[in-house]
Amino acid sequence: MIYFDYNATAPVMPEAREAWLNVTEKLGGNPSSMHQAGTRAAVVLAHSREKLAASMGCHPADIIWTSGATEANNMVTHHFAQKSPANAEIWVSAIEHPCVLDSALHYFGKRARLIPVTSEGIVDVDWITQEMTDKRPCLVAVMAANNETGVIQPWREIHAICQAYEVPFFTDAVQFIGKMPCTGLGQCDYVSGAAHKFGGPRGVGFLKIPHRSQFTPLLWGGKQEGGRRAGTENVATIAALTAALEAREKQIGRSEHLLRKLWRDNFERELLRQLPGTMVVGASQPRLWNTVSVIMPDGDRKLQWVNRLDKAGFAVSTGSACTTGKEDPSHVLSAMGLKPTIAVRSVRFSAGWETTEDEWLALLAALIKIQR
Ligand code: PLP
Repeated sequence: MIYFDYNATAPVMPEAREAWLNVTEKLGGNPSSMHQAGTRAAVVLAHSREKLAASMGCHPADIIWTSGATEANNMVTHHFAQKSPANAEIWVSAIEHPCVLDSALHYFGKRARLIPVTSEGIVDVDWITQEMTDKRPCLVAVMAANNETGVIQPWREIHAICQAYEVPFFTDAVQFIGKMPCTGLGQCDYVSGAAHKFGGPRGVGFLKIPHRSQFTPLLWGGKQEGGRRAGTENVATIAALTAALEAREKQIGRSEHLLRKLWRDNFERELLRQLPGTMVVGASQPRLWNTVSVIMPDGDRKLQWVNRLDKAGFAVSTGSACTTGKEDPSHVLSAMGLKPTIAVRSVRFSAGWETTEDEWLALLAALIKIQR
């Protein structure tokens, strides 16, 4: 099986597996325990926190370990629902992952406003600037890169606007971290990430919050994570997260992603040429080097392509993993103004660091073959 669904989850890389095994086999203590075994685990935890903070450019104490990005994102919306006045609005981009959108709707109801996006899948910065002139939401949430289209969002620009108006800014950087340099992310007020998107294990992630800020926990109990998230930390998966990120950052530092972008671009170009009627979503915008969202030719529904490719030995997706299995048009493509009859024809190909040029070429050949 050739895997083209890295945006759903990526295989665990050797560096992460090694770090996980090392902690699991040698460091069995609870990091909150006072004995030596506990202290040794606490040292690994502190070291991991320092590494992640150094990558993002923030203070280690600003990082809270979580069970993944769904938890981290729910923590943010919950925190603002608790601390903000009863009439406060939250502004979230219309293309956020459901764990941001649905939790914002859950906590804020009609006070959750959707920030529109352009037809190319970019959050409308002018809308934010205009609305800010006479209103202040309690939080603006715009992801760093979209999981379905791969379109990179102007998070730095939006963060600067929020700073000017003293409005907290949150970016879900799940698809961005480990693929793109994360310089500057640590300056955003709230940032979330998940290890399994860049070669770490599933079930571990983090939330970065402003330095020395008060935070209302979502999970109550023990005083772990500075009283901001109760529950014994999974030290082995946390060590694996930072080992994976460190390895990915080295690859990014060597610009290894640029070659992979060329392979993806070549696939796109040839697909458009050899399979008439296809369209690449957000084609004119800066996008993650690994992602292609394609509208397949008229008359073909996305699940047919996914199933046919599956039989041909390729794992691809209809969009985000959480909506797989449904043939409803994606909320991301709908927000971009694509008609439901067009949006139901979208298929997402997402490669990873391990994907080779030959695999992109094999995917192209398979698509051409199975269309007939
Ligand atoms: N945010 C984005 C942009 C995602 O792509 C995902 C997963 O697909 C999540 C959040 C949820 O992450 P997790 O699986 O760690 O809960």
